[in-house]
Amino acid sequence: MVQFRKMNVKNPIKITIAPGDGIGPEIMEATLRILQAAGAAIETESIEVGERAYLSGISSGIPPAAWETLRRNKIFLKGPITTPQGGGYKSLNVTMRKVLGLYANIRPCQSYHPFVATKHPIMDVVIVRENEEDLYAGIEHQQTDEVIQCLKLISKPGTEKIIRYAFEYARTCGRKKVSCFTKDNIMKLTDGLFHKTFSKIGADYPEIEQEHLIVDIGAARLADTPEQFDVIVTGSVGLGGSVNIGHNFALFEAIHGSAPKIAGKDIANPSGLLLAAIQMLLHIEQEKPAALIQNAWLKTIEDGIHTADIYHPNISREQVGTQAFADAIISRLGKQPSQLKPVAFQQGIKQVQHLYVPEKPATKDLVGVDLFISNTNRNASELAGNLKKSTLQKLDLKMITNRGTKVWPEGFPETFCTDHWRCRFTAAAKQPIYYQDVLDLMEQVNQQGIEIIKTENLYNFDGVPGFTAAQGQ
Ligand code: NAD
Repeated sequence: MVQFRKMNVKNPIKITIAPGDGIGPEIMEATLRILQAAGAAIETESIEVGERAYLSGISSGIPPAAWETLRRNKIFLKGPITTPQGGGYKSLNVTMRKVLGLYANIRPCQSYHPFVATKHPIMDVVIVRENEEDLYAGIEHQQTDEVIQCLKLISKPGTEKIIRYAFEYARTCGRKKVSCFTKDNIMKLTDGLFHKTFSKIGADYPEIEQEHLIVDIGAARLADTPEQFDVIVTGSVGLGGSVNIGHNFALFEAIHGSAPKIAGKDIANPSGLLLAAIQMLLHIEQEKPAALIQNAWLKTIEDGIHTADIYHPNISREQVGTQAFADAIISRLGKQPSQLKPVAFQQGIKQVQHLYVPEKPATKDLVGVDLFISNTNRNASELAGNLKKSTLQKLDLKMITNRGTKVWPEGFPETFCTDHWRCRFTAAAKQPIYYQDVLDLMEQVNQQGIEIIKTENLYNFDGVPGFTAAQGQ
């Protein structure tokens, strides 16, 4: 099921780089100098994406020629980019993630206590976040004056891929525990699938401790005691690097933005981009220069050679600029930190090729329909009365909800109602119905002058309802 992509480390690997905007060019220069000094076997090809492209009228910020380079090289080290103010500009990161299939976002969050001031001295957590689906599908509709909808789409293949990746990452990097955060107490079907898939895939990794937390409590615990966590799979500015992985493509960047206010001043900290570049070296199986650089970087931090953003008079020894910080790292290549834990990378993180094997299709029976209706008369009983006039023999009006809360039958007058109603009709004879029955119902409702804004068919899959009940009494 799982295969790793092998690469020949003897020949230089061609990577695409984009210096980016603001502080981008300075931190890219510092990073590439360090990579070169450490003997990384890479060859760079530069593209221009970001502000200039946006301002020249390319709404994605990515010119056509840049796409060609990106697709040819498949590995991308990206500087931060500035999204110009004003509407009409699409997020370059979201476009890249989706077009290139970068389904996994990996964000290692580590503290470097006592050399960099931190509230969490023993934090060392890796967050693995799904990038492509769920609310990232970005499918939104305004349906009535008062209600706007965002569709949360969760797929079995998408869920399996990200969870498999998190476990493979944990196994390869010697991590001991994977925590899954979802909101499946409320979103029982979508997040429920994520949770179930976590348990299913987790069974292939018995040596790794596993836990599931509702995202609210998970986030609170992470903020309070991050040392409880190791790898987190779920749907800060400064030192963090970020990796976006797909089956054929990988993008590496700093977490921070283009910091235009400090651009061109040689004061930006290049560590975020450098740590992302170390992840890139691991990805292309160049563990040796990756470890050389990370240990030299740790030693530099430990020696108190700090850029302005992390400089603290009681902790630091010397405040340096971007390029001097890079020089300090280069001069420490081959040295190990003595207090911070040195790294010894055994293997790169690699790409995980997860082959999704579809299950045998379930028997799917149409058993009803939810009609979504726009109605400014906020009386649920009256709406029910009008709808019942149009009910045909085959479908019964079962309930009406407003923003998911049942308001008919037996609603409470205290429930706040908007102009957006979900009216559930189910098969009267407890027999599967045909779609023509739904169309007939809609025709009748339409003739009553009631505005249908959207419909959702209700299906049973192998006899199990594929829809949730309403909240309420
Ligand atoms: P930002 O990350 O650029 O800056 C936030 C704060 O952190 C500022 O005070 C800045 O000076 C400081 N900072 C950031 N990076 C630093 C570094 N390496 N060294 C020292 N200090 C640093 O966030 P912002 O101000 O919200 O956004 C500025 C621009 O960056 C916007 O156009 C935004 O769209 C873009 N942005 C891009 C990315 C990306 O390309 N991935 C991510 C976030 C923001």
